Amino acid sequence: MDLRDSSDDTAFRVEARSWLEENLTGEFAQVRGLGYHGAQHEGREVRLAWERHLGAAGWTCVGWPTEWGGRGATMSQQVIWNEEYVRAGGPARVGVMGEGLIGPTLISYGTDSQKRRFLEPIRMGTEFWCQGYSEPSAGSDLAGIRTKAVLDGDEWVINGQKVWTSYAQWSQWCFVVCRTDPEAPRHKGLSYLLVPMDQPGIEIRPLRQVTGTAEFNEVFFDNVRTASDMIVGEVNDGWRVALATLMFERGAGLLGDILQFRRQLDDVIERARKNGRSGEAVLRQRLAEAWARLYILRLNVLRSLTGLEGPVASPEASIAKLFWSNWHRDLGELAMDVDGMDATAAGAGDSPTDSAPDPYPLTESQRIFLFTRAGTIYGGSNEIQRNIIGERVLGLPPEPKATAR
Ligand SMILES: Cc1cc2nc3c(=O)[nH]c(=O)nc-3n(C[C@H](O)[C@H](O)[C@H](O)COP(=O)(O)OP(=O)(O)OC[C@H]3O[C@@H](n4cnc5c(N)ncnc54)[C@H](O)[C@@H]3O)c2cc1C
Repeated sequence: MDLRDSSDDTAFRVEARSWLEENLTGEFAQVRGLGYHGAQHEGREVRLAWERHLGAAGWTCVGWPTEWGGRGATMSQQVIWNEEYVRAGGPARVGVMGEGLIGPTLISYGTDSQKRRFLEPIRMGTEFWCQGYSEPSAGSDLAGIRTKAVLDGDEWVINGQKVWTSYAQWSQWCFVVCRTDPEAPRHKGLSYLLVPMDQPGIEIRPLRQVTGTAEFNEVFFDNVRTASDMIVGEVNDGWRVALATLMFERGAGLLGDILQFRRQLDDVIERARKNGRSGEAVLRQRLAEAWARLYILRLNVLRSLTGLEGPVASPEASIAKLFWSNWHRDLGELAMDVDGMDATAAGAGDSPTDSAPDPYPLTESQRIFLFTRAGTIYGGSNEIQRNIIGERVLGLPPEPKATAR
């Protein structure tokens, strides 16, 4: 693995860096670094304008093929873009579900008319998506979903409930996995539907998280409709498409996240220096260990991406997911310990803002500490990642399956 940029990559890096320097200015400078990890509400209106600005300049969806408006960037260029973006202090992207999940899914599995209808608004930052997978009794066990869709003339009619649906309150569309053949075996009776959110019958109830903010929601479907051609893949073949979407979930973006993690760690180290705790033997050891583990994570992710031009396949993805989510959770604990007794007092953070009228104020350490628990759950919990590693990497006997009675 060669960690140096090729000459093409160097030119790409220079172009990305200078565009960001020239454009992350004026009103956009106000949202630098905002909207990450439990703070998706921050600076939302300006971040939406920033999303459109990025889109108009061709800096969203850089890895998409040029045919669909992307730059056709190689994997290393996608990594470079993500790293430069975080290095420049770019705010958290608003359109991640569209760009990273449904867009690539449609490019691989969508019909031509779906691609023509949906890809451009995602790329231009004018339409946003949410992911309707999890249900109250189907999270890790996704094939257990019960939300039903029935064809009525030239429309699907959907009834049921999703939960933990991130950004549903800000989305125009949802990709929903539904049961379309209740008689078929669990994995074989599912379909993958594209559903407009702005219609009667959809009720969105925000769920307040421990950070005080509500990024995810319960979504209820009561005779909700979508056109019969708003299906990706064949009827009852949704499981295959749903898994493909999950494969797109992580990859080049993780390198950007790692840089973001590094910034958070640097802040913690700086605070330890300032409050005189960096000299304490145990804390020093933990700070050094956090630095080293993050470096190892970066090298491992680079290794897994080397030579790859598509989604990261399991089990590499599972190893990286387990590693980063635990690292980030540990960073939250370390940040609180560095702050010492001050960390236990609420009310030391930013005041509520217009876009976040009511969250209780948190310091950066408190926010990271509270939010990073989520990383060990979403995108496949730690236990599920360990199952995958056990079975597919170590070749251990498969997990016993519950038998239906
Ligand atoms: C911040 C956040 C955002 C999310 N956003 C979305 C979203 O936008 N769209 C969406 O559809 N979902 C979303 N989710 C849901 C997420 O995908 C699920 O929470 C996750 O899949 C776990 O499912 P569950 O919550 O139902 O827990 P369960 O599956 O009920 O698991 C409960 C516990 O049992 C363990 N467990 C389950 N099965 C096994 C097993 N076979 N072996 C060992 N242990 C097991 C789990 O690890 C966990 O500890 C989000 C979750 C979070 C935290």
